Amino acid sequence: MRPALRRRLLLAAQSDALADFDGETWSTRCLHCRSALQLQANGEPLGTTTLEHVVPQAWFGKRAAASLTAQVGEDADDPRNLALACARCNHGKGKGHDARGPGDARAHEVVAALLATRLSRWRRPSALPAR
Ligand SMILES: [Zn+2]
Repeated sequence: MRPALRRRLLLAAQSDALADFDGETWSTRCLHCRSALQLQANGEPLGTTTLEHVVPQAWFGKRAAASLTAQVGEDADDPRNLALACARCNHGKGKGHDARGPGDARAHEVVAALLATRLSRWRRPSALPAR
């Protein structure tokens, strides 16, 4: 797995208030269905763990998504926009919204709710004990 992707997976775990690190493994819950997910200390995903961009990358720069992208600093890879999701939820959700775009009221509503969930689980990565 690419180092950049591992870094983003780790950042998603470190900034997730539900995530615990036992010295070897990160454990948290899927942003969507709350099923248990794990990540190795080096960011390598275990099981069905995937990286999710909460606001789809394709929405950045689009006026209809401005109220959402502003909440993550207009950067798709800002840790506030990164979350861990199980493969089933990630692949089930992403494509449809990406395709419909932020101008679709239902797609906008779903992503806004997801982002609210993500931000409610936010913690500063620097608040963690040193490893
Ligand atoms: Zn899930």
